[in-house]
Amino acid sequence: MTFSARVLTLYPDMFPGPLGAALAGRALREGLWRLDAVNIRDFATDRHRSVDDTPAGGGPGMVMRADVMAAAIDAAPTVGPRLLMSPRGRPFSQRMAEELAAGEGATLVCGRFEGVDERVIEARGLTEVSIGDYVLSGGEVAALVILDAVVRLLPGVMGNAQSASEESFSDGLLEHPQYTRPAIWEGRAIPDVLTSGDHARVAQWRRAARERLTAERRPDLIRKPRN
Ligand code: SAH
Repeated sequence: MTFSARVLTLYPDMFPGPLGAALAGRALREGLWRLDAVNIRDFATDRHRSVDDTPAGGGPGMVMRADVMAAAIDAAPTVGPRLLMSPRGRPFSQRMAEELAAGEGATLVCGRFEGVDERVIEARGLTEVSIGDYVLSGGEVAALVILDAVVRLLPGVMGNAQSASEESFSDGLLEHPQYTRPAIWEGRAIPDVLTSGDHARVAQWRRAARERLTAERRPDLIRKPRN
């Protein structure tokens, strides 16, 4: 099974974008995942190919039309969940990335302007997902963020599979500090324990560092179960 991502957007040229480079790009070329960027405008029906209109009730900006969005969604069978990029959505998390990576794929709908007509969210069962408490100009960057987090978890994408299970959030803790050669740089040495060759002590040191860093920087991760 190949993870299959379908992205609905007014800017298909933004894809694969950064996901065409490095690990994700190589995996895409090798067929470890698939990406289909669909131009929502192709589903407009009027002479001006309009995809948006003024908000009912007044106010600034434009709203993406339910009929055009629905036609774009319905144009192909849906694989996996239908996600709408949205600052009102459920906060995206490593847990959600893991769940998506375990599935067959996802549809990612990218909003623009003031957002999307509420009726298409209800009628097509779109799950709103947010990448953080700030407002982007469109959902494309959010879709790239989500796909990046998912694709690196797919089997065969990351060289060293173990690195995924030991990093930040994998067990509710932030990662420990990392070091590499040179042994001394600008007078700063690598902590002795890491060059001692004593694997048990290294593991103990790393665990303590992870707990200390998480308590200092993200006490919310310790109090709260993973979401
Ligand atoms: N008027 C909306 C913001 C629209 S921003 C509001 O106040 O909630 C335009 C589009 O960018 C949105 O439809 C959404 O698809 C995307 N977007 C903006 N911020 C986002 C975020 N934090 N996470 C995910 N998508 C976001």
